[in-house]
Amino acid sequence: MVGAGPAGAAAATELARDGREVLLIDKATFPRDKICGDGLTALALRQLEELGLVPDAVESWQWTDKCWVRSPSGRIAEFPLPTEQGHHAAVASRRDLDAALVDLAVATGAELAAGCRVGAADESSDSVTLDVEELGRVNAKWVIAADGMWSPMRKHLGVAPEGYRGEWHAFRQYASGVTGPAAEDMFVFFEADLLPGYFWSFPLRNGRANVGFGIARGGKVAVPAMKALWADLLERDHIRSAIGSDAELEGTHRAWPIPARVDDALAATDRVMFAGDAVGACDVMTGEGIGQALLTGRLAAQAIVDNNGSADTTSDYTSRMRSELVADHKMSSILVRALKHRKGARAAVRVAAATPWTRRNFGRWLFEDYPRAVLATPRRWGREMFTPPGTYQDG
Ligand SMILES: Cc1cc2nc3c(=O)[nH]c(=O)nc-3n(C[C@H](O)[C@H](O)[C@H](O)COP(=O)(O)OP(=O)(O)OC[C@H]3O[C@@H](n4cnc5c(N)ncnc54)[C@H](O)[C@@H]3O)c2cc1C
Repeated sequence: MVGAGPAGAAAATELARDGREVLLIDKATFPRDKICGDGLTALALRQLEELGLVPDAVESWQWTDKCWVRSPSGRIAEFPLPTEQGHHAAVASRRDLDAALVDLAVATGAELAAGCRVGAADESSDSVTLDVEELGRVNAKWVIAADGMWSPMRKHLGVAPEGYRGEWHAFRQYASGVTGPAAEDMFVFFEADLLPGYFWSFPLRNGRANVGFGIARGGKVAVPAMKALWADLLERDHIRSAIGSDAELEGTHRAWPIPARVDDALAATDRVMFAGDAVGACDVMTGEGIGQALLTGRLAAQAIVDNNGSADTTSDYTSRMRSELVADHKMSSILVRALKHRKGARAAVRVAAATPWTRRNFGRWLFEDYPRAVLATPRRWGREMFTPPGTYQDG
């Protein structure tokens, strides 16, 4: 595994659990920060639960069951998530979450090589040789490249798209002393000048929150203008009243791109499977990618296990991954087009907030409690397709 973020750690856990020999390599040592909103959707929670991650292992873990969405016209609507039968959303700092996932992989039997950058890779028809800092040359039958948005493995193998810089660009900062409703609830504000992007505030423990905003690359806001806009956003009355007037920002903001192009990204070569941000798996509407990273990492591992070393492993991964994610990606892409315009965003919030039923179901849909394109994919239809039980029912 190259990369020990959610995609790599999930893949390593899955393979180690099957008794495989697994080396989990990361240039960072853990715990390490990852620029992120720290929001865990129902998709991410389901993956984490299936992997066996215990929320108590993650210090900053905070359950949350309500999201407030503000339309560009200023209308604010509350979207509750169900509270009976388990949880549908949580927030956990990536510093804690990713370290806990790495611990889980190691406890399951994976070997960790932290602080070891992969500097080169060479692929033949039956193996891959990696040049790894501290370790030297490492030979592997299969490599899962879970090395993030910039995927050095793609570059080493000559399959990185020229000039690619992600579909979104997002700013993130932590706030402490949060006293407003944002201390407990999630906020998503569709600001007219950010569309189809948005501002978020996600609650962490002890009066802290993760605040930030994302914009579509090539949209109305140019990436270099984001810094000035961040200062301006934080002064807006509705944002101040959500986080409370005493809230203080910690450190400095940090920015990072978000890749959301799973429909046309090369998912695998002969011996290497790309997972998580390395395959552009983020949701193109919200920019969420932790759930997709966990899912694609696990699918790559399952392809190795189920194909038992056969040459079909990587093509099997490609078809499983595409079957899980591409229809949802297309649905999100259609919605992004509607959210680009003030009227579209306003209408979307109005329709979503029309009745208690639409509010409840919009909240579930936004937080990936069921797949984006569930209506367009009959194979996923079933009795509980709109009302799956929550996760972690015992805790
Ligand atoms: C500002 C922002 C906010 C976001 N908010 C959310 C959110 O609230 N919820 C959500 O679900 N998603 C969110 N996302 C997306 C989410 O952060 C990513 O989709 C997720 O981190 C992808 O996980 P990953 O395992 O694929 O990659 P990463 O988490 O990026 O991990 C990649 C790993 O590869 C390692 N690596 C890289 N190069 C090398 C090398 N040469 N050798 C060895 N190791 C290497 C890195 O050190 C890193 O640990 C956000 C993204 C951004 C930028």
